[in-house]
Amino acid sequence: MPRDIPITQLRNIGIMAHIDAGKTTCAERILYCAGRIHKTGEVHEGTAVLDFDPIEQKRGITINAAATSVAWTPSSGLCPGQAHRIQIVDTPGHVDFTIEVERSLRVLDGAVFVLDAASGVECQSETVFHQAERHGVPSLAFVNKIDKPGADFDMCLRDIRERLGIEPVALHVPLSGSELLDVVHGVVLGFDGRAVLVSEMTAAHRTVFDAARATMMETLASFDEDVLALFCQGGNADARTLARAIRTGALKRKVLPVACGSALKNVGIPSLLDAIVDYLPSPVDVPDVSGTHPLHGTPLTRRADEREPFAALAFKTVFDRAGYLTYVRIYSGALSTGDGVRLGRSGARERVGRLFRPHADQREEVRTAFAGDIVAVTGLRDVRTGETLCASDEPIVLERIDTPAPVVEVTIEPKTADDRERLPTALGRMLFQDPSLLAWVDPESGEMRLAGMGSLHLDVTVTRLREDHRVAVSMGRPEVAYRETIAHAARVAYRHAKQHGGAGQFAGVTLAVAPGARGSGITFSDETVGGCIPREYVPAVEKGVRAAASRGIVAGYPVVDVAVTLLDGETHVKDSNAAAFEFAGSLAFQKACTEGGAILLEPYAALEIAVPELHAGDVIGDLGARRGLVQRLVPRGRNAVVVSARLPLAETFDYVTRLRGFTQGRGTASMRPDGYEVAPSTRCAEGGPKRTREGHRTP
Ligand code: GDP
Repeated sequence: MPRDIPITQLRNIGIMAHIDAGKTTCAERILYCAGRIHKTGEVHEGTAVLDFDPIEQKRGITINAAATSVAWTPSSGLCPGQAHRIQIVDTPGHVDFTIEVERSLRVLDGAVFVLDAASGVECQSETVFHQAERHGVPSLAFVNKIDKPGADFDMCLRDIRERLGIEPVALHVPLSGSELLDVVHGVVLGFDGRAVLVSEMTAAHRTVFDAARATMMETLASFDEDVLALFCQGGNADARTLARAIRTGALKRKVLPVACGSALKNVGIPSLLDAIVDYLPSPVDVPDVSGTHPLHGTPLTRRADEREPFAALAFKTVFDRAGYLTYVRIYSGALSTGDGVRLGRSGARERVGRLFRPHADQREEVRTAFAGDIVAVTGLRDVRTGETLCASDEPIVLERIDTPAPVVEVTIEPKTADDRERLPTALGRMLFQDPSLLAWVDPESGEMRLAGMGSLHLDVTVTRLREDHRVAVSMGRPEVAYRETIAHAARVAYRHAKQHGGAGQFAGVTLAVAPGARGSGITFSDETVGGCIPREYVPAVEKGVRAAASRGIVAGYPVVDVAVTLLDGETHVKDSNAAAFEFAGSLAFQKACTEGGAILLEPYAALEIAVPELHAGDVIGDLGARRGLVQRLVPRGRNAVVVSARLPLAETFDYVTRLRGFTQGRGTASMRPDGYEVAPSTRCAEGGPKRTREGHRTP
């Protein structure tokens, strides 16, 4: 079965936004304008189509990276009359769900950033934009809510330049809450349901247009020779030359095309779809995907072409009534119902059941999917998020999706004996779907602990356990995930010898430990010479070191940011073995860290708080009381300020509620995890937050 749409007419995009900027409404209006749905549902009524998960509907936020696809044939621009397919991976707005953003960025070719016209670039948009930059994902911006009082398009353009560090190119200028001036084509656009009403500019519009067009030409002339030549001659470029230059600039991430409109009022959505087609890449416009050979590690690439060997990445698994549903992005080759595939890393084989093109909670069955497609696959039992699927005779492992370390923990307790019995299976499924969750049994207290990216993440997990898996658990107070590290370098020699009667145990290990860079974890290097430790035992020493690091030194929290060097050792011809070296490695590390002055690290958060000016003093005072450091104070709009601060994550749990309280509901805050810092010494001296029988004592 041949492909129905040429690969150059595919767009794989994500919609990114700060929470409440209107991402869900935009996504839904896109479905409506493209004829996918026939009625629009408002998010605040809990009926929006992309938020299909009942939990999401109740909370009014988007959690799942649900995928959907729409058909779109632009009426103007670079490809008029050509049928395109836009595949949209929905991404969450809340920072507690960074892993979902990260894994969707991994499989997207382009991103649309939705901004609130009255708020400009907010903290989460900035974070996600830089995340997208890291992945090399070309983007465009949609300034939403131009109908709202306080909407300020110029402020948004300035914010993009200053906060995102990229030059904006305004594709439109809002004329009112319902009309746009199209700067590329020089016409006025009105919107009526799905229809676009194109009209000529009036004399008043022309003044606005001339200024906007001159700015556009100037920006494009900085990298496009055709536009530069025209600009130098004082001439104007035709729409096609401009659109081509914008496309080149956007794909190379030299400029950020900026569309605008009002999703709520259905203004500007068809022009946004045209912009997605014109200015975001198709799968062949992005670099070939890279990976390695699973056996010999040689670097490999795959071109976005159905004639190449099959390679795909599983970027999400969902357990539903029909079993596991695996969302995959196909990079090369084709995949058909019933095909056998190889799992990149393990080499295991699995057979593909059915293939679906996802559309929110509905699915359209297809027999074959091709390079560039995003499809949901049934029948794969052992494919976790991040796994590569490939052709059996041409194996490849694609680069993995990074999983951030969890920063917040809770104790969970099954409510009944029945819940206790069913908890392991249910939790196993949840961990399978969400690699940013961790669960374990505390060896001292026997309690079940759950760790995730934030208190909301854990809250949602517990609700899911109850609503999707019928397992009721109660949840303790959220606590931050502390870490341990060392203050200075140390060197220790440790000899493990048990040689009385029976089989003996002997291993000698000399280790050096030194503080590593923040975020470096535990690094291990072997500098032994002359075979003082036989090669085969070195991995055992490392295993022992890592095990001791995960158990902690002073308070039972994992040790991080330590560079470990194996310097020397001793071996006994008969009594040395891997177990003895593992034990010696563990003990040597523990002693070395104690000598290195083990200290506690606590997670920090970057906070951005928007408040009316008159409450700024209260906010700053309160931040001080919470050990926060105010970094910036920027005026926003007429009477508001944005306070940027950094403070211990433990101090943020009730922050939003408190802020609403002392600003009469007018303050908003957003936060993201922002590394670790040494916890104040008084905390360690007092015994600090220790893992105890009751779980963690909070500071
Ligand atoms: P998300 O959190 O980014 O997914 O944002 P939502 O789509 O849930 O929208 C947040 C709120 O903004 C909802 O109450 C929407 O009705 C409202 N909203 C969305 N788009 C617009 C718009 O264009 N204009 C106005 N005035 N409100 C909007």
